[in-house]
Amino acid sequence: MVHETGYYDLLGVGPTASPDEIKKAYRKLALKYHPDKNPSEGEKFKLISQAYEVLSDPKKRDLYDQGGEQAIKEGGVGGGSSPMDIFNMFFGGGGRTQRERRGKNVVHQLSVTLEEMYNGATRKLGLQKNVICEKCEGYGGKKGALEKCTNCKGRGVQVKVQQIGPGMIQQIQSMCSDCQGQGERFSPKDRCKNCNGHKVERKKKILEVHIDKGMKDGQKITFHGEGDQEPGLEPGDVIIVLDQKDHTLFQRQDDNLIMKMNIKLVEALCGFQKTIQTLDNRTLIITSHPGEVIKNGDLKCVQNEGMPLYRDPYEKGQLLIQFMVEFPERHWLPEHLMYQLERLLPPRDDVMITDEMEEVELCMPDVQTQQKAYSGEAYEEDDDSGPRGVQCQTQ
Ligand SMILES: [Zn+2]
Ligand SMILES: [Zn+2]
Repeated sequence: MVHETGYYDLLGVGPTASPDEIKKAYRKLALKYHPDKNPSEGEKFKLISQAYEVLSDPKKRDLYDQGGEQAIKEGGVGGGSSPMDIFNMFFGGGGRTQRERRGKNVVHQLSVTLEEMYNGATRKLGLQKNVICEKCEGYGGKKGALEKCTNCKGRGVQVKVQQIGPGMIQQIQSMCSDCQGQGERFSPKDRCKNCNGHKVERKKKILEVHIDKGMKDGQKITFHGEGDQEPGLEPGDVIIVLDQKDHTLFQRQDDNLIMKMNIKLVEALCGFQKTIQTLDNRTLIITSHPGEVIKNGDLKCVQNEGMPLYRDPYEKGQLLIQFMVEFPERHWLPEHLMYQLERLLPPRDDVMITDEMEEVELCMPDVQTQQKAYSGEAYEEDDDSGPRGVQCQTQ
């Protein structure tokens, strides 16, 4: 029984979503609302993280489904981790432990087609990052020319005294703007002209992302040490997360591909040949021989025409085809020919009809009048002009 759906709504999934669907929803939203990319959406980022923390844990999810947010709060199991902890745990750092003196990891999402995951591809990704200034090698100015900041007298902080009311003063301490809290600075003539004393410069770096055959949606590709450079810090990683675009024909389920195919009734009964365009542009011919009846919804498969297996791309999954049988329109066959068709089809079952039975009319359900009937309105109308009870419309 699901009472509340707030957490599900935050992630944009239904209450019956699978753990995978919840993961995927979190992945997309967390990257979108991460403070690095969307600084004004911090609150949203926090809410998404909370929702994910609860829904990704079967026990907490159970508790939430039964008693809503209240139960989570009372159970003392919510809000244990900070949004950043959840994010870092989810996206990880490619197996390296986070050390103190290390810059942060940067996560980017890369949208890829199913074709790219099938055939493999190389994508170039341009990103702006901070690199140690080449001119001053991260020193910021002329070697040995660093002098004590006169503004803060080397303390790195400024103290301002402000009158905030009659007889009341406030001391505000802030980082020294002249030396950026360093306590030391270069005089303008000694400052590095290239980085303006910032020690780093912004540079464009092209990363080549190799998408291997069989890689999956959500798979991470880590570029070690490609994060922002900063003097005295080991740079963090750039982590690329693959995001598979929907395909018009195929759906992917692990290493299998699934597609729907419409066939006509004549094909379902009398056989057919059909073609399928593969993701590497080959054309497959499939055959259903006369006599192999295919029913609506039947699933058939072609071995070794699914997705290539990651790191073993000569092996492939299955291609699953679900058949949808298109029936002919009503009255497609003149009545006098019906008899001939019936002679060819498997015989119908006879029904014994007796006097005690009631004969009723079979008609199309009319959604509107049905709803009226449930709310009781349909029985309130008494005059002859209005609609009466549940009405059937034959079409
Ligand atoms: Zn410089
Ligand atoms: Zn200063």
